[in-house]
Amino acid sequence: MASGKHFKYIVLGGGVSGGYAVREFAKQGVQPGELAIISKEAVAPYERPALSKAYLFPQNPARLPGFHVCVGSGGERLLPEWYSEKGIELILSTEIVKADLASKTLTSAAGTTFTYDTLLIATGSSVIKLSDFGTQGADSNNILYLREIDDADNLYAAIQAKKGGKAVVVGGGYIGLELSAVLKMNDLDVTMVFPEPWCMPRLFTAEIAAFYESYYTNKGVKILKGTVAVGFDADANGDVTAVKLKDGSVLDADIVVVGVGGRPLTNLFKGQVAEEKGGIKTDAFFETSVPGVYAVGDVATFPMKIYNDERRVEHVDHSRKSAEQAVKAIKGKEAGSAVEEYDYLPYFYSRSFDLSWQFYGDNVGDAILFGDADPGSAKPKFGSYWVKDGKCVGAFLEGGSPEENAAIAKLARAQPPAASPDELKAAGLQFASKI
Ligand code: FAD
Repeated sequence: MASGKHFKYIVLGGGVSGGYAVREFAKQGVQPGELAIISKEAVAPYERPALSKAYLFPQNPARLPGFHVCVGSGGERLLPEWYSEKGIELILSTEIVKADLASKTLTSAAGTTFTYDTLLIATGSSVIKLSDFGTQGADSNNILYLREIDDADNLYAAIQAKKGGKAVVVGGGYIGLELSAVLKMNDLDVTMVFPEPWCMPRLFTAEIAAFYESYYTNKGVKILKGTVAVGFDADANGDVTAVKLKDGSVLDADIVVVGVGGRPLTNLFKGQVAEEKGGIKTDAFFETSVPGVYAVGDVATFPMKIYNDERRVEHVDHSRKSAEQAVKAIKGKEAGSAVEEYDYLPYFYSRSFDLSWQFYGDNVGDAILFGDADPGSAKPKFGSYWVKDGKCVGAFLEGGSPEENAAIAKLARAQPPAASPDELKAAGLQFASKI
């Protein structure tokens, strides 16, 4: 039986929120030996969004240590030596397989136990696999997923091995869109397949999606909508050769990349902590129903003050900010000082090809498109406002400058009374700039 170790604070999960939490602990002040971060991954926390973007570029791909946290927010890069300099224990390649919140004990796959006074759960999400649904042939070689750096390495290797080959991307969300673009940039013959009537349906309106679909088509990406992969063929080596679609058609494939969503990793805590909307329920300080246990990032369902409801958010900006908020609350509680409630404005971005968009607020109510949404334009710039109950509650912008993106963020926070749809359309970005 391996021996146990005690820490005052344990951060479980070495992803984005884990990294930002540790930085905040260091900022607030921790004694050497008080804090440990435990991660299943073999590398120190890094900015996960890079994996579907620059990590897969055909030229000068991003590699660690270039994108360790916290470069994504313009902060200091936490290299592995940073942790040892600060006396913070970085425990890598260690999967926790059991958590007993009553005895404040975590147990690793190798049988090591870790006890804590305060626990911060930052386990993020895992990908949903087609084999979870029993899709025929889904465990063939070169059917790939993307969540962690090992997945990105596998995908990079497959891209190199199948140069000039055919790639099928299953899923039309942001992962599907970003990966289709980067596969195309690597000169693969790319087909995207998804069941919905347009891409990114959880955020995009039909008009917004029409722009991206045309832009992708112009770049040579084929898009098949309204159908799903129901099976895969493989050769004698077990390598995927074809994707069978529900509509009866068959696509040749050397690589299949699946991006059909994620699931928050809450299993270790089932039955021990209150859950809500698929995540671990927290208060505005990210403390769970168990005192001294906090949950941040993708796994937390927290009070979204601005909309007076509870939500779980799977975006990098929230993972950073929730981690910082939880650590401020932990340290504030110890010092007896008050910390303000989390008051998050939803923010999400994506980049692919030469495109870059940002979204702030809520995409509810009526959407009003403005600007130049012609995919053939040299520099398309367009956006959308969402209007609910007479107020402008959300804004999307493709191709915005930092100042313009700041303007739509300000608008989404302020929720000003909306002008008429025609006036909004005509005013375009001017409407946000005047807030
Ligand atoms: P993660 O960053 O996933 O970290 C969780 C960590 O916990 C991992 O290291 C995992 O190995 C570890 N872990 C889990 N269980 C255990 C265990 N039992 N024992 C030990 N360790 C464990 N968001 C955006 O807003 N914009 C983007 O452009 C964008 N791009 C993305 C691209 C990709 C490829 C992916 C996968 C996500 C992207 N996201 C993006 C979402 C964003 O990265 C996540 O919301 C964010 O990483 C969540 O942070 P987290 O700390 O909760 O989880």
